[in-house]
Amino acid sequence: MARYRGPVCKLCRREGQKLFLKGERCFTPKCAMERRSYPAGIHGRRSQFRRRVSEYGTQLREKQKAKRIYGILERQFRRYFEEAERRPGLTGLNLLKMLETRLDNVVYRLGLASSRSQARQLVRHGHFSVNGRKTNIPSYLVRLGDEIAVRERSKEMTYFRDVAQRLGERPLPEWLSLDEETLSARVLAFPSRDDVEIPLSEQLIVEYYSR
Ligand code: SF4
Repeated sequence: MARYRGPVCKLCRREGQKLFLKGERCFTPKCAMERRSYPAGIHGRRSQFRRRVSEYGTQLREKQKAKRIYGILERQFRRYFEEAERRPGLTGLNLLKMLETRLDNVVYRLGLASSRSQARQLVRHGHFSVNGRKTNIPSYLVRLGDEIAVRERSKEMTYFRDVAQRLGERPLPEWLSLDEETLSARVLAFPSRDDVEIPLSEQLIVEYYSR
């Protein structure tokens, strides 16, 4: 599955806010946003002072931000939007729920990876199972009652042993439960709007695609 391979701190600088794409580094003074919080490039610093952003520009930025946080490229993101439109209920909320229930995001939210991109790599490398079956598709959407677990042989890895020591450092969302002993989790509910910890306006994204 295609993904963005360029420098990720540039993305935060472009959006003008921390998107937390690099795990622990994001919480240190090494974070690029702590040092240069303006967009990269020769006009970057000047664009800080350009105050007026059009309605379209605001909607576009919100959409880009969501894509970058969840590490999804345009075509797939649009597909999520189309599916969200087809589902009953509010399109924006449906979209956020789908993004939140991606397997890579779930692994990240469980605290088993320090960033969504690391979670994606771990899933890709086949370290997780869903309902007992090896699943290496980061975009797999978990369902109610699904059991997500670190596979037996992966539990022996130093990485997962270290992770097991650090579990609980990040708050666990209410829609997930985690057994820290067995490194297995269960989907207790679908995420609600309050469970989405990212400051995003889904309405602006809906408006962007509804133009
Ligand atoms: Fe963004 Fe993290 Fe890079 Fe800081 S360190 S700019 S929060 S990706």
